[in-house]
Amino acid sequence: MEKRFGALRVLNGVSFTVKPGEKLSLIGPSGSGKTTILRILMTLEAIDGGSVRVDGEEIGASVPGRRPSRGDRDALHRIRSKVGMVFQHFNLFPHMSVLKNVTLGPMLTKGVDKAQAEAAAVDLLTMVGLADKCHCRPDELSGGQKQRVAIARALALQPKVMLFDEITSALDPELVEEVLNVVRRLAEETDMTMLLVTHAMSFARDFSDRVLFFDGGRIVEEGSPESIFTVPSEERTRSFLRKII
Ligand code: ADP
Repeated sequence: MEKRFGALRVLNGVSFTVKPGEKLSLIGPSGSGKTTILRILMTLEAIDGGSVRVDGEEIGASVPGRRPSRGDRDALHRIRSKVGMVFQHFNLFPHMSVLKNVTLGPMLTKGVDKAQAEAAAVDLLTMVGLADKCHCRPDELSGGQKQRVAIARALALQPKVMLFDEITSALDPELVEEVLNVVRRLAEETDMTMLLVTHAMSFARDFSDRVLFFDGGRIVEEGSPESIFTVPSEERTRSFLRKII
């Protein structure tokens, strides 16, 4: 796929396939295009060349000045319903309770009734260790707790693919582990396909089936965590890892 922001080429011939259930980490320097890839998969950004396919639904490049066709809009909609995303800055609805944050999506987009949405939300909040915070507002929670609510909210829509975009980068160090533990459990206990953009290299190493190293809008190297982290074949990968680890 290709992606530009104005004159800036952000993704340059990036091509990869993720197997159902695979856990994939995207690593690389800031500005190398990792977040943009997740945003494209979440249908928050259009692409300028190539195509994206999620679970059989395909979207092509946008054409400047032309509205997407009905078929493309339908495909976007179907992709959006299969993908969940957790953002660096939580993006919770600040004026709603934790419970409402989690129930809103299923009620609005899937027509789930309130009682059923609340029962499912309580289960998810229990799973992330926050059953006692249902009636709090986000500003009453720590960053780690907010991020666990954000994970529960994304899971409430029962996505096939979960995208995690630097979800611990905005957290105080002592709160990182509680969030990573939730992701670790999801990886171990579910067959969801998971893509993780992270600077937490030791977590990426444990979590991933495969790692993609990006630089300058391209995939420079990909492989198993063992090969990328212990015997990377590209000098750019080696110099990045030397700086970050
Ligand atoms: P990474 O996640 O690897 O840090 P990003 O995907 O966030 O990289 O960004 C890739 C490049 O695209 C950067 O140069 C960034 O400044 C630029 N970029 C990202 N989003 C936008 C945007 N909405 N408008 C203009 N430039 C953007």
